[in-house]
Amino acid sequence: MSEMKQVVLGVDIGGTKVAVGLIDHEGKILAQGRRPMLANGTPEAALQAVTGAIDSMSSSATASGAGIQSIGICAPGPLDPITGVILNPPNVPCWRNFPLVERIKDLYHLPVKLDNDANAAALAETRWGAARGYHYVFYTTIGTGIGTGIVLDGRVYHGNTGSAGEGGHVSIDYRGPLCACGKRGCIEILAAGPAIGARARTKLGAKSAHSMILDLAKGDVASVASELVGQAYAAGDPLAREILQETVEVLSVWLGNIVDLLDPDVLVMGGGVAAMLKPFFDEIKNRLPSWCVNPRASEIPLVMAHYGADAGIAGGAALCSQDLT
Ligand code: ADP
Repeated sequence: MSEMKQVVLGVDIGGTKVAVGLIDHEGKILAQGRRPMLANGTPEAALQAVTGAIDSMSSSATASGAGIQSIGICAPGPLDPITGVILNPPNVPCWRNFPLVERIKDLYHLPVKLDNDANAAALAETRWGAARGYHYVFYTTIGTGIGTGIVLDGRVYHGNTGSAGEGGHVSIDYRGPLCACGKRGCIEILAAGPAIGARARTKLGAKSAHSMILDLAKGDVASVASELVGQAYAAGDPLAREILQETVEVLSVWLGNIVDLLDPDVLVMGGGVAAMLKPFFDEIKNRLPSWCVNPRASEIPLVMAHYGADAGIAGGAALCSQDLT
């Protein structure tokens, strides 16, 4: 009898959807799907949304002759990666102190792991992606917020209570704008997608100068979001360049702090905003030495994440990749 192919089931729980995938021991996504998440319903209805998604994947595993060895879940924080309890995530109000790992274990009788999405994605990049072979990995994903994960010698650094790696809430300006977390000047409130959109709207409101951003928005300043800044930049628009350059400047200050604290051997950036900032990676690297004392800062590679929209399911799977043989 031929041996059954062993795979991990990766689950990515978000505020609006549950994404699931089957991932092999090389980090390849063999199958994937998604279901709506019932984040505002009862705890049990939300659990059913998750198990419905898991069941759909286990059927495709069975159909393709693969055996699911474990289930790895990433979800929005705060959560406790050690006890597997979802604490009080703002985007998933249905669960408060919900023992997700225990519930899934009871249902499937498999090993189950849980971590927040940025930590999990950082691990996937380290095991299988852009940070493969590196030992001191700093990962950041820039989208609606800024999530970060630290992977040291192949393990996520959780800190004492599981709360480490909240780099998006490292402030670079104590008098800066108020972040949703209650602190001022967090890099998230300065450089994530919504901040770039807001920067553009402010400049468009204040300047009479023409910008392609306004053309793309059909004259509606209020509708301008960060994607339009990216499109206008790609088409050579000077105001879009100015906005992205300011974003790059604040990110460089922040990464300088990170480099001084961690002395990483690689910096990985993912998320929709990172894709837009790709043409500025060299500029960020060149600016870094002005914002840290690390004498070798300019040698640290700054690379684009390997997993794009699939970072969550790959991340979930990476949490249990050591179970794969
Ligand atoms: P999430 O935060 O759920 O991971 P995204 O990565 O799509 O979602 O990020 C959403 C935020 O990032 C929004 O503010 C959006 O305007 C911005 N954004 C997403 N993709 C791009 C892109 N390709 N170019 C510029 N901005 C983007």
